[in-house]
Amino acid sequence: MVTPTMEPMSQHPQPSSPQPATQHDGARPYEGLRLMHVHAHPDDESSKGAASTARYVAQGAAVHVVTCTGGERGSILNPKMERPDILANITEVRRQEMERARDILGITQHWLGFVDSGWPDGDPKPPLPEGCFGLAPLEESTEALVRIIRDVRPHVLTTYDERGGYPHPDHVRCHEVSVAAFEAAGDPERFPDAGEPWQPLKLYYHHSFNRPRMEALHAAMQAHGLESPWEERLKTWKPEPEWDARITTKVECGAYFGVRDQALLAHATQIDPDGHWFAIPRELQVEVWPTEDYELVVSHVASTTPEDDLFAGVDGVGGTL
Ligand SMILES: [Zn+2]
Repeated sequence: MVTPTMEPMSQHPQPSSPQPATQHDGARPYEGLRLMHVHAHPDDESSKGAASTARYVAQGAAVHVVTCTGGERGSILNPKMERPDILANITEVRRQEMERARDILGITQHWLGFVDSGWPDGDPKPPLPEGCFGLAPLEESTEALVRIIRDVRPHVLTTYDERGGYPHPDHVRCHEVSVAAFEAAGDPERFPDAGEPWQPLKLYYHHSFNRPRMEALHAAMQAHGLESPWEERLKTWKPEPEWDARITTKVECGAYFGVRDQALLAHATQIDPDGHWFAIPRELQVEVWPTEDYELVVSHVASTTPEDDLFAGVDGVGGTL
């Protein structure tokens, strides 16, 4: 049995970028609403959906992240951080990085308490290491997440698509656990010892890493005579129009890309400040693709797609319960 730990509430920082027009009066239309993102590793909350997180926090929502694993088997992806002292303490270093990102984003967070499965390198791929998240029985990890959902009581839950966003075993498992917990959390017959039933109203998958966005950013870089970081990637990324058409919901959050970038940089072992994350000028990103994109998968409230808000239809936001 895994016991999740609750991290303390952090301050809600102001975004470093100019706020959108709707924010000049300090309006907090999402006060009282709760959003939960379930992620595989520390840093995923900063690389997927972080700007929409910052926007909802600034506008009054409580945003809570569940991190399934400690990221213990993540490689160091920033050459400047490849030092023996960091490698020897990687678990603790990643916890500290997560704490900084949490404060920057203004979120609360639980660790689900499982161990990183690592990226299986080789052909054929080696078996997953014993005791890792990818091998934990689904019932066990689902119960741990149901317990947190019933405690935090989110109105909206997000996770990865069935491919995991990318095929890391922890990302695929994160999808499976999130979908199972979304279905079980409101059912009094499931996990009766894991708290009072609570049914989140909407379930979303992240789709921000989509090909049309990459194409648009690539074209904009070329049009400005700048070197695009996506030249090679686009050559091997086969177009999948049907997959891209699954996007239902585009959340405007360009004014918060600065907060997203700060949160990314907090994960110093994982994010190279000279790498592809920051190769495209932020102003160009805001101009070309100012949204983060999602797929509405289940909704227990009336909301018509396409939407521009994860809370559309929830508790008076563009509709009623
Ligand atoms: Zn990850």
